[in-house]
Amino acid sequence: MDLPVDEWKSYILQKWSLLPKSTQVTICTAETLSDIFLHSSSLLQPEDEMFLKRLSRGYFVGKDPNIPIFYREEGNKKFQEKDYMGATVLYSKGVSHSRPNTEDISLCYANRSAALFRLGQYEACLKDITRAQMHGYPERLQPKMMLRKAQCLVTLGRLQEASQIVSDLESDFTAKQALAASQFQIPQSTLCHLKMKVQEKETLTETSPAALTNAFEDMNLREENEQVSGASSSVSLCMDPLKGRCLIATKDIPPGELLVKEDAFVCVLNPGEMPPLHCGLESKWDTRVTNGDLYCHRCLKHTLATVPCDGCSYAKYCSQECMQQAWDLYHSIECPLGGLLLTLGVFCHIALRSTLLARFEDGGKVIRQLCGEISNKDICLPESKNLVQTLSSHLGGEGEKNGKTAEPPIPGCDINGKYEKNYTAVLHLVPHTKNHSPEYKFLCALSVSALCRQLEAASLQVLTTSLKCSQAKAAVVPGRCEELHIWGVAMLRHMLQLQCNAQAITTVQQIEPKENIITESRQVRLATGIFPVVSLLNHSCSPNTSVSFMSTVAAIRASQQIGKGQEILHCYGPHKSRMGVAERQQKLRSQYFFDCNCLACRNEKHRAAVGPRWAAFRCNSCRELMQGDDVLSCSGASCTESASRDHLVSRLQDVQQQVGMAQKLLGSGKLERAIQLLLGCQRDAESFLSTEHSVVGEIEDGLAQAYAALGDWQKSATHLQKSLRVVEVRHGPSSVEMGHELFKLAQIFFNGFAVPEALNTIQKAEKVLLVHYGPWNEEIQELQKMKSCLLDLPPSPVAPSV
Ligand SMILES: [Zn+2]
Ligand SMILES: [Zn+2]
Ligand SMILES: [Zn+2]
Ligand SMILES: [Zn+2]
Repeated sequence: MDLPVDEWKSYILQKWSLLPKSTQVTICTAETLSDIFLHSSSLLQPEDEMFLKRLSRGYFVGKDPNIPIFYREEGNKKFQEKDYMGATVLYSKGVSHSRPNTEDISLCYANRSAALFRLGQYEACLKDITRAQMHGYPERLQPKMMLRKAQCLVTLGRLQEASQIVSDLESDFTAKQALAASQFQIPQSTLCHLKMKVQEKETLTETSPAALTNAFEDMNLREENEQVSGASSSVSLCMDPLKGRCLIATKDIPPGELLVKEDAFVCVLNPGEMPPLHCGLESKWDTRVTNGDLYCHRCLKHTLATVPCDGCSYAKYCSQECMQQAWDLYHSIECPLGGLLLTLGVFCHIALRSTLLARFEDGGKVIRQLCGEISNKDICLPESKNLVQTLSSHLGGEGEKNGKTAEPPIPGCDINGKYEKNYTAVLHLVPHTKNHSPEYKFLCALSVSALCRQLEAASLQVLTTSLKCSQAKAAVVPGRCEELHIWGVAMLRHMLQLQCNAQAITTVQQIEPKENIITESRQVRLATGIFPVVSLLNHSCSPNTSVSFMSTVAAIRASQQIGKGQEILHCYGPHKSRMGVAERQQKLRSQYFFDCNCLACRNEKHRAAVGPRWAAFRCNSCRELMQGDDVLSCSGASCTESASRDHLVSRLQDVQQQVGMAQKLLGSGKLERAIQLLLGCQRDAESFLSTEHSVVGEIEDGLAQAYAALGDWQKSATHLQKSLRVVEVRHGPSSVEMGHELFKLAQIFFNGFAVPEALNTIQKAEKVLLVHYGPWNEEIQELQKMKSCLLDLPPSPVAPSV
């Protein structure tokens, strides 16, 4: 999803292979990004554009007046089944396909308000009622909705407003009848009861806006760095001749300290794993739910009640405010290009959005002048003096060049040496132009130039007008073509930068299967963004920090003690607990163009023969670990056992397949069968896998879930403790993975009323999670609630009755 869809990729690769050798050479040897772009885009033919257009039509992003009623009916079905969450999402889909100020949209909003009411989301329910009214909700249906509004207000304790509505309704004859039918009245005792319920609800609902604000305030840096905005004063920006820019600790840093807090310069929501829909009405009317339906396309907040863009069915937001901001900043230009942007992938989309955002900095001068300079002179060496001078003279303004010939020591910094999260910093991220394959550059250049032509056709008018307005002072206004050329070059540069500098924005999603009482959580990738300050961190396969996100803000915390003078390191993806040294090195070389020489890699290279314990096989007869490459032999002193790797791997795959089947059985509530299957896997695994093998952990985890669902807390806890040991060996005792696992164990003890064990585990889980997420993490909040609940119990609790 980062790159263009496969059809376009293979189309361009074929086009490349058919180019005359001389043309290929011209592009390969082009000195600057500007030349690469110029040569490539001159090869984009009308038939190529037609092909791309056909692909784009596979994504239906417009509004279709026939669709809302379909989604409304599907939503009603879910509502009948009491699946209010499912109903809400389907009504949202109906809303996003309706045109503004139609009966359709008002009906969808009204139905959604009913589902939200059932979910206890009263504030959201009230907003939807207002929206339904705004878009012309039919008069005849009003009383029922007003009744709901009154109930909401009562539940929220806004009694005066509620009684106003009730008295309004009472003065209306038809409403009176509706009221009589529903026997709606608010005696004092009901009110008290409802109010108590509200308080209960408030603690249960997800993150309330107030809690989120608190969380942001709490996420403040102890003291902000004077040199790097968004970084803590405990680090400083340095230039290393080999590694380039890096952050170094200026004092001893304790685990959990916040080192960087940075809002993305730009980010684009990942549409989610969903293939494009190829024609046919039934597939267009799609009831599948993706992240695109659940998260705000601007601020990434989780939202059930989304507000759609008025012009397309694709962009959805948490609020009217987010919609307006997105529209003003970039969506007014992106809106008509939705299908094309989905076809060209997230990187292309980010490239476009970055340049759109650059218009607002310094009136667009940055992109025009700076990018022109960069692309014409020295694209490959952005660290060079030439560029730095360009930059400093540019940013220093006219009158300030006198006196000291200030030469900022570090690229991306302004004349005073300050590094900020702005477009200048983004432009200075290294694009590695020389390292990318010619085919990849050709693909990026043609994608960008196709996008440029669409921009020209669709909205250049808007674009240039807004540019001209905001940069009235600029001496020269380049002609249209030149302007677009600069935009194209800038976008191409961003696309090439993204391979190494894109940061995945992730969130922890909690999955609660119906039969299950333990919350399972998994990390999902929500969006891709550019964070100029986070980009200053170099990679380690065993980093000393951990990153988490709240909305579009990245927080980097020390995950362990960091000594003064040590470098602050962050993992680009290949982590030592996920893959072996060879695989990591290969990944880092092909994606990031460097040979990793981190401590973990150096250590592992020395003891390559024995792999990590979480992937190790063991001897069938003496239980010692096996070692070797193609043929493994027992490491036991007096044992001569050996086995081929292929054989062991195929046995492992068998077990994995069965574990997968067991997980499916668990999901569908067939607990006994799942347990039988998992116990079989356990026996099998014991004969050839190390006790800390990750698959052994999965088996134990599955058994823990199954017993929890059966209400056998003791057995569940025993199995989860075994799984915990595997996680500890693989990820370390203070890893975030360990935190999630301890959270699960705490839930099991809590549900089983094992008070001392629960309190003990809660404390451990809190300690670990606090380091990685800070105090406002959902799981930590949950743990604190469990703790206070346990401490409030009478001194000698009744024996568990499960
Ligand atoms: Zn939002
Ligand atoms: Zn739109
Ligand atoms: Zn490494
Ligand atoms: Zn042996």
